[in-house]
Amino acid sequence: APAGEEHAFSAEVGRLLDLVVHALYSEREIFLRELVANAADATDRRRFEALTDAARTLPEDAKVRIDPDKDARRLTISDDGAGMSKDELARNLGTIARSGTRAFGQELDSRKPEDLPKDRPSLIGQFGVGFYAAFMVADHVDVVSRRAGSDEAWRWSSDGKGGFTLSPATRERPGTDIILHIKEDADEFLDAWRLEAIVRKWADHIVWPITIRRDGEEAPANVGTALWRKPRSEVTEDQLNDFYRHVSHNFDTPWATLHWHAEGTIDFTALLFIPGSRPFEFGEQVRESRVRLHVRRMFITDDAGLLPSWLRFVQGVVDTEDLPLNVSREMLQATPVLARIRKAVTNRVLNELRNRAKDAESYAGFWENFGPVLKEGVWDDAEYRTDLAGLARFRSSAVGGWTTLAEYVSRLKDGQEAIYYLTGDNPDTLPASPQLEGFRARGIEVLLLSDPVDSFWPERLGTFEGKALRSVSQGHADLEKFPTSDEETGPRADLDVLLPALKTALGDAVSDVRGTNRLVGSAVVLSAAGQGPDLQLQRLLRRSGQ
Ligand code: ADP
Ligand code: MG
Repeated sequence: APAGEEHAFSAEVGRLLDLVVHALYSEREIFLRELVANAADATDRRRFEALTDAARTLPEDAKVRIDPDKDARRLTISDDGAGMSKDELARNLGTIARSGTRAFGQELDSRKPEDLPKDRPSLIGQFGVGFYAAFMVADHVDVVSRRAGSDEAWRWSSDGKGGFTLSPATRERPGTDIILHIKEDADEFLDAWRLEAIVRKWADHIVWPITIRRDGEEAPANVGTALWRKPRSEVTEDQLNDFYRHVSHNFDTPWATLHWHAEGTIDFTALLFIPGSRPFEFGEQVRESRVRLHVRRMFITDDAGLLPSWLRFVQGVVDTEDLPLNVSREMLQATPVLARIRKAVTNRVLNELRNRAKDAESYAGFWENFGPVLKEGVWDDAEYRTDLAGLARFRSSAVGGWTTLAEYVSRLKDGQEAIYYLTGDNPDTLPASPQLEGFRARGIEVLLLSDPVDSFWPERLGTFEGKALRSVSQGHADLEKFPTSDEETGPRADLDVLLPALKTALGDAVSDVRGTNRLVGSAVVLSAAGQGPDLQLQRLLRRSGQ
């Protein structure tokens, strides 16, 4: 073969390959899941691109072919997908562009191989470095690809060490061949039956046909029935969990699985999951819902914003009959169908949460994972604000564990008009805050809030069951209504000398120095001006330079 252009891997790819090959060695079979998933993704992409570019039209018989060749010790995975141009080959297979993948490298860097988690393959799927899994079973990989809409084909070739070469190639139709030169100790992956078992296990729900060449024949290897379209009674829990892992890139077991079919004004099937644990780096990567939209089983997009952003931890699929298969991005933005689906799905998820909240212990686990995200909705979604406030859980100065706003209201002291809360960064030190002393001494409960979003939503919510939410650092005047029995009330007389002296000493740093009945053991406490922003909010604003 002509010597092609030499390219070095980006530093991150180099490190990653080393780890994939040497540390992520268990369960090697998942390389096939990754390559088949890529082939299916590329086929989806081509179908979508063809909507606006007829030159990329997908052939009727588009499929994914798996072709083992024992004599040549070669395994080829071919697709009729979008293919890659020369630049795309270099970029997609030679650098790590996605931030999640960069995080993967950093995460692995920070650990010794022996400290890596036991389910190592999960790391591969989770961070989307799937292609490189090929080097677990191959000592050399060739990728021959022709971009749909172009006549040019290119060959990417690498031994997975320092870099790769790019050289011109030929390919009859657009699409991609991944050619694995199988390692000495990986013979099993040249066996058609073994390959079929792997496809059954990992890729059965892929809607494109997958075939495996066996005795010269192309034999179908997947059922291709979208799992969510099967009646609930025909779907096992294992299948659901596997599917959850596939769509979410998580490796836990879902805390909740919602599977239903809606008929009537709008027709759709949904299979949704609430993860059982908080995914690594959750919230930093993705701000919008990634629930996948399918039309008549065909994948359309995962950025239709099918759920509000405060439900972005929900994973899964919504499949509808009410949109045309060739729905375009512009149409998705304009159609009322999506808004209706969104509302129906949101309400269904909230119902599920209300039901599951009856099991306080289980719900607490959910709340600890995703409560801060739900609270964003109290802040920025007027439509669901009250519902979400009802679902929220809080730490409190008066009771252990988690409590609700409704429970707080049921414990109000005689004459207490407001729901008091204290915000701060550190949940461990909040209960010892001097801001609480005056309230404690009077037996008035205070909610302890320590998530960043807690500085924002209480003011938006305003009231709950007719009671105003009030920050303790704002309205301490209320305390005067509740004299403590064992102490004199009101500031002491000798403060008349101390206060003006302090005020002079502190100058512009404070707007006032006052006597207070909020404190019992402490000498001083910082307080926000009655009408101004809450103290914790002031701190946050200052930190963000506002
Ligand atoms: P991910 O699939 O999570 O993006 P991978 O490492 O599996 O990460 O693949 C990297 C990129 O290479 C893909 O995003 C895609 O752009 C490209 N790619 C891989 N396989 C194919 C293929 N068969 N056809 C077209 N593009 C592909
Ligand atoms: Mg992939």
